[in-house]
Amino acid sequence: MARPWNFAAGPSVMPEVVLQQAAAEMLDWHGSGMSVMEMSHRGQEFIQICSEAEADLRELLAVSNDYAILFMQGGATAENAVIPMNLIGRVAQPKADFVLTGIWSVKSHQECQRYGDACIAASAGVPTRVDGVQQEAFTWVPSPDTWRVRKDAAYLHLCSNETIGGVETMDWPSMDSLGAPEVPLVVDVSSHFLSRPMPIERTGMVFAGAQKNAGPAGLTIVIVRRDLIGHALPICPAAFNYANVAAQHSMFNTPPTYAIYMAGLVFKWLKKQGGLRQIEQLNIAKAQALYGFFEQSSFYRLPVHRSVRSRMNVPFYLPNTALEIDFLQGAQARGLMQLRGHKSVGGMRASIYNAMPLEGVLSLIDYLKDFEKSHG
Ligand SMILES: *Cc1c(COP(=O)(O)O)cnc(C)c1O
Repeated sequence: MARPWNFAAGPSVMPEVVLQQAAAEMLDWHGSGMSVMEMSHRGQEFIQICSEAEADLRELLAVSNDYAILFMQGGATAENAVIPMNLIGRVAQPKADFVLTGIWSVKSHQECQRYGDACIAASAGVPTRVDGVQQEAFTWVPSPDTWRVRKDAAYLHLCSNETIGGVETMDWPSMDSLGAPEVPLVVDVSSHFLSRPMPIERTGMVFAGAQKNAGPAGLTIVIVRRDLIGHALPICPAAFNYANVAAQHSMFNTPPTYAIYMAGLVFKWLKKQGGLRQIEQLNIAKAQALYGFFEQSSFYRLPVHRSVRSRMNVPFYLPNTALEIDFLQGAQARGLMQLRGHKSVGGMRASIYNAMPLEGVLSLIDYLKDFEKSHG
């Protein structure tokens, strides 16, 4: 059975060899006679699986020991509440600042308002001209020198890859340069996690739902500087208190064991590929092929400003919405799946995460060419 090319934004494509390994180990993990799903999270075997996953992740991202790596649950959406509950109590007046670059950072800002004074440091939520090009809302990123951060804020929130809008920024400023050296930067990296090296040391914490680029749904990864842990509000549920989770090495309560195992296999796969520098080169090649095709076409339209186009999530528009059904049906007939854009922005979107081979992107480009020929 041929696997189709899956361009879903998440849950999304997994490396085929990882799925094969999981299948081979499904009934009997390493001679234990048990599936990983059936193991106690406190047993020798699972503790080995979990600590290897943590060590491999630490190596891949070059995370220093100043940071704890936590395997949690609830997704990035739960983190929008869990973060303020853990961090906002660090300062006398509970407040946090937000850079709004798309739907996910807007949601983070809204959720934080339940826990304190959540202010907008900068927003791309208005149409503007960038480098002489007219940009719609949330298709560009305000330059860091325009961000207004309160010196006494508990943290500054940024979403560095807006999955829906397809806006990616690695312009993570040092907080010194923003005149707020005491304010930790908190970055939602969910949809480009492990797609490239990242300067974790410039942040207070990063977090990611696994189902975009690291594994199956159900696991949320938090990498948090240890000095930020231990200030949770009294209302913070014990299972979501970073101090508890860190003290128990992600075993304060039963963690999502099978999802941790699968993510661990993905980490080993990434190491085998040569690590994040290598996978980044492949991601650049895929993104250049796809964007390069769109740029020379006068049929398709790219909404996002060139300087912040995501390597992972590529939104594009057909000349009119009447063509969309035809486009999607034709794509599906060729095994190109899940190309519909998010309902909030419409259009189409191709998510080309780590596990999408260049071959899949080239198949998509072939189809895009043929569709343009027959409908242009
Ligand atoms: C998918 C996503 C979320 C939400 O993740 P859930 O697991 O559904 O809570 C938040 N932020 C970003 C950037 C995402 O891509």
